[in-house]
Amino acid sequence: MLNPRLAGYIRRNGWIVERLRGDPILDPTIGQQVMQWHEARGGRPFTGAQLCSGQRAVVCGNCGNTLKGSVDTGCKVIHYEDGKPTRRYCCSKDNGGCGRIIADQRVLDKHVKAIVIKVLSDPEHMDQIKRRAQQEAKARAPIEAEIARLEGLRAF
Ligand SMILES: [Zn+2]
Repeated sequence: MLNPRLAGYIRRNGWIVERLRGDPILDPTIGQQVMQWHEARGGRPFTGAQLCSGQRAVVCGNCGNTLKGSVDTGCKVIHYEDGKPTRRYCCSKDNGGCGRIIADQRVLDKHVKAIVIKVLSDPEHMDQIKRRAQQEAKARAPIEAEIARLEGLRAF
């Protein structure tokens, strides 16, 4: 019931990124209510929604190891103002790191978002993206022409 695909959503690295085509098995509104209920019910929180771990990793400035995201649990948990338990990124010794770096998830995510916005807002970067898209379109043109030719043959 917690899989967002049932409600027609695709989640990657903990983030809802896209809608599936077609009719979902579960009404999207009910799906959102189920996920909100699960998040609010207490117990061990969902750990997958962390921007800077996994494939979009941030590395430790001390040893270069990938930071690992975690949720604070237990009876001495500090909560954010919205009532959710604090989350952090750490350079874990269990993961081969130095164990000396810990960052609050929301603080680090805020800095990473600001950097991403700055990079994507750069006009030179936009020109690079446009040039790359033009190169890829040029490389795809013969393949698309062949697909169109084959689809024309199939019509008969
Ligand atoms: Zn480290």
